[in-house]
Amino acid sequence: MELITTFLKFFVSCMSFEWVSVYDCAHCGASDCTTNVEYNRFGYPVCRRCGTARRN
Ligand SMILES: [Zn+2]
Repeated sequence: MELITTFLKFFVSCMSFEWVSVYDCAHCGASDCTTNVEYNRFGYPVCRRCGTARRN
């Protein structure tokens, strides 16, 4: 029961993040919430998996 509650909390939190914006890497196809994405000095989001910066 506790495991299900944890899963539901994770699912709901991720869904709420997707409403804001989701980062999709065109290089490796990784997707992540923008809140977990780092930005380089030009302001572009940087993929945490392959390190490629997206320009739009
Ligand atoms: Zn990537």
